[in-house]
Amino acid sequence: MATEKFLDPRKMAHWPGHMETDYIYTLGIAGEKFFLEMKENGRIFGAKCSSCGVVFVPPRLYCEKCFHKVNEWLNVGTQGIVHTFTVAHVGLDGAKLKDPTIYALIKFDNTEGGLIHKLSNIDPSKVEIGMPVVAVFKPQTERTGNINDIKYFKPQE
Ligand SMILES: [Zn+2]
Repeated sequence: MATEKFLDPRKMAHWPGHMETDYIYTLGIAGEKFFLEMKENGRIFGAKCSSCGVVFVPPRLYCEKCFHKVNEWLNVGTQGIVHTFTVAHVGLDGAKLKDPTIYALIKFDNTEGGLIHKLSNIDPSKVEIGMPVVAVFKPQTERTGNINDIKYFKPQE
């Protein structure tokens, strides 16, 4: 949260999800609800600005459009579209991957933002911008409350 002060950056509220892209969101309270819904219910929640109506996925604490505090939650479903994507042929260690990994920015209907995640169950040459995809969650008992509770996205059948 932007109003908190930390001397030790490791104590900042952050999203511990690790992917090869190695990104960290510092969303504090908004992130907690987001991950709790993923973990407990296998649902993806956005945060809605009650002033201008914009929905953010992942959630934000403050609206980027009108600076109002964002305090409504909205289940955005598990289906999104591929906004953009890239295909990794080499791992972090520099070794060629046996199977290329597809990373996509997934956007949800009528929302701002998007989730970066793996795209699976499709040949990389078949991926298209705008194609509908759906989140595949880990079994509930294996979820730990981070972005990897979603195993991957796959093409919608
Ligand atoms: Zn707003």
